[in-house]
Amino acid sequence: MSKPPVKKNETIELTFEDLTHEGNGVGKLNGYPLFVPYALPGETGKVKVIKVKKNFAIGKLVDVQEASEQRVDPPCDVYTQCGGCQLQHMSYDLQLQMKQKQVQDTMHKIGHLGHVAVHPVIGMDDPWNYRNKVQIPFGESKNGNLKTGFYRKRSHDIIDMDTCMIQDEHNNRMVETVRRIAEKYGIKPYRESDHSGILRHIMVRTGQTTGDIMVVIITKTRKLPHQEAIVQEIRQTFPDVKSIVHNVNNKRTNVIMGERTTVLWGDEYIMDTIGDIKFNISPKSFYQVNPTQTKKLYDQALQYANLQGHETVIDAYCGIGTISLFLAQQAKKVLGVEIVAPAIDDAKKNAKLNNIANAEFYVGEAEKIFPWWQAQGLRPDVIVVDPPRKGCDEALLNAMIDMQPERIVYVSCNPSTLARDLRILEDGGFETKEVQPVDMFPQTGHVECVSLLQRETI
Ligand code: SAH
Repeated sequence: MSKPPVKKNETIELTFEDLTHEGNGVGKLNGYPLFVPYALPGETGKVKVIKVKKNFAIGKLVDVQEASEQRVDPPCDVYTQCGGCQLQHMSYDLQLQMKQKQVQDTMHKIGHLGHVAVHPVIGMDDPWNYRNKVQIPFGESKNGNLKTGFYRKRSHDIIDMDTCMIQDEHNNRMVETVRRIAEKYGIKPYRESDHSGILRHIMVRTGQTTGDIMVVIITKTRKLPHQEAIVQEIRQTFPDVKSIVHNVNNKRTNVIMGERTTVLWGDEYIMDTIGDIKFNISPKSFYQVNPTQTKKLYDQALQYANLQGHETVIDAYCGIGTISLFLAQQAKKVLGVEIVAPAIDDAKKNAKLNNIANAEFYVGEAEKIFPWWQAQGLRPDVIVVDPPRKGCDEALLNAMIDMQPERIVYVSCNPSTLARDLRILEDGGFETKEVQPVDMFPQTGHVECVSLLQRETI
């Protein structure tokens, strides 16, 4: 291979033609690609070469000479410092197009499923202030005050920030309020470097349909100083707060919450609804962060499941039973399985809360329970899976193939593992009919998909 056409630290002019899956601009010099954050297709700009490798280089955009019509001014002040959002410099239309293409490319390259229809991404009408949950660390600002902010990209430095534009406004205001109160009482932030101090994180979750708010203050110490005054002042500022919780985490770890959780005031959960179904959500439960889009995702999953009322359905990786309870309204019976025991407790309570009697929930690893169910002769008509980023375990995929359901509905937050698993299911006798991406995380590079597979009839 010939020498790279650029040298480190030189500045060149480059025209961009494409975007990577992370949203970086791609420009080529005689076929040699340069990846440049914040550059958009169709643009020409000055680029400083930062890193040179044999097959590609990374550059920094120093000047845009011809801007794309899709370029927008990022509205957030800390956009380029913060690791949270990656796509604020592009129009929302371009974000959606990019995500659709990412899913198409991945289906083709990893799953060899280039022929499968990947529909345009279902976006949001207003792609801001959508997140119902914030978890944010405390730190100390230069002048010794308490600060709250996300970590700088690829580091544990905390950015001093007032507000996050993808967060629900209630969450932003609650973080600001608790910071102000803690500041007033001189409570020190936790310091990772020597494991000293008190305040580690604050977590706030808002039920967007009910207006319920939960705040969890996480400290290293067993005691939260000025606890009563803090509770009182939070209630004064937010008269409708539902739940004020203290959690203790005294370990040196990146995991945010520790074992010990105490309700300081109010309920130990908040409520939210998706469609007609109510959910109780406790401090540690997994709950989708964008409920507006979750409704669209679940509606699509339900449509793909195409239930007539006589079916037995398995919902694997069911969390607190969100998808299961949606399915149960239209099926004969739903079996949910999930590895986290407290989530299953929530799922059972949520079934009762909604008077749903045809959903059963089991704690365990899906990849162990499925083969056991299969050996017992369980033959579901439809299987729904919604695994974490690493996708489904192979033992689970094999059990699904052996169970021979009519349809499989695969919900995924990672197109790569989705494409890998669809390939295995295709080889096992299923056909991928269509893939519907849903934008659960506007302004970020993430994309969620729901896909339908049908058993091939021989
Ligand atoms: N379907 C739910 C949750 C999806 S998140 C919803 O839409 O809200 C993925 C879930 O898979 C998490 O709750 C996680 O605890 C669970 N999980 C992870 N590994 C698992 C495994 N091996 N078996 C069963 N559940 C698992």
